Amino acid sequence: MEMKINKVLQPTPGRGLVIAGPCSAETEGQVMQCAKDLAKLGQVDLFRSGIWKPRTRPGSFEGVGTEGLSWLKRVKEETGLRTTTEVAKAAHVYDCLKAGIDVLWIGARTTVNPFSVQEVADALSGADVPVLIKNPINPDMGLWVGAVERIYKAGITRIGLIHRGFSYHGKTQYRNVPRWQLAIEMKRRFPELQMFVDNSHICGRRDTLQEVAQEALNLNYDGVMTEVHPRPDEAWSDAAQQITPQVFGEMLQNLRLRKPTASEVEMADLIELRRQIDEVDSDLIGMLGKRMQLADSIGEFKAARNIAVLQSDRWEEIMAEAAKAGNQHGLSEEFMKSYLRAVHQESIDHQDAIVNK
Ligand code: PEP
Ligand code: MN
Repeated sequence: MEMKINKVLQPTPGRGLVIAGPCSAETEGQVMQCAKDLAKLGQVDLFRSGIWKPRTRPGSFEGVGTEGLSWLKRVKEETGLRTTTEVAKAAHVYDCLKAGIDVLWIGARTTVNPFSVQEVADALSGADVPVLIKNPINPDMGLWVGAVERIYKAGITRIGLIHRGFSYHGKTQYRNVPRWQLAIEMKRRFPELQMFVDNSHICGRRDTLQEVAQEALNLNYDGVMTEVHPRPDEAWSDAAQQITPQVFGEMLQNLRLRKPTASEVEMADLIELRRQIDEVDSDLIGMLGKRMQLADSIGEFKAARNIAVLQSDRWEEIMAEAAKAGNQHGLSEEFMKSYLRAVHQESIDHQDAIVNK
């Protein structure tokens, strides 16, 4: 689909864009204090706060509802900060438009559901408000792309993306694994859409917020969305990942914005390094081809003797050995596992093709 997209926030030279505020609006006092402290930092472009909270289980704090919109209005009047909140239903959109909320965002639990996205899109039709779209909870690019298209078709031209990570079944340091490649692919497909990293929901904890934000800036993201609370430990939602305005200010100080492109001299060095990488990649592909030829030979061998394609203990052995070898070369266990799984699947497919002949 041909799109003519405009920026959600005007960039400030020399620094990334900043969206910050509490996970949830809890009380008028909490919202005002957070906004005033954030405004003092002088670097916040948009004040976030959840008014309606999508909770996994009923009974947890589901947000203060429409009443909280008047607190956001007060934030804007008294601090000058523009405001944003999550919308998931038509009624949320109407309430926000009436209250003059500056930017709306679609949450991860909404992006997964085309019915909900369409309901929000229909409610937005004819409005001139910027919309940020979070990635869906599951790593399905189509849903993310579809949400952008639905909102665009409703006549919204200021659209941005928020990368908040993807749910993952298994042990990981993240609350939601980033899968940077998916966001990079979104940036490639929609280069004109601004991309923000929601480091809070990726990390789920305080001590890694800075490194994830920096990683995003290294990848040329336009800015961050971070949950900030005056008393994080007492937060009514997402307490473990929220930080005080002061700690947030320190994080911003430490973040380094990368230049989007290299100078000519730097470029020459970069080109040489890239050339070397291309060479290694080409070698690796050749080696993988060789590996699959061996898999084919094993397939022939097994077919001739009617032996099953998968031998689990052999596979366990390969995994364990490779994890050790990878470690010696500075490769993470997580990477080695996903690499091997992919290679193994390809081997099985090759052998299957032969055995089924
Ligand atoms: C939030 O930003 O507070 C939120 C609910 O996020 P997500 O939709 O990414 O889970
Ligand atoms: Mn939250």
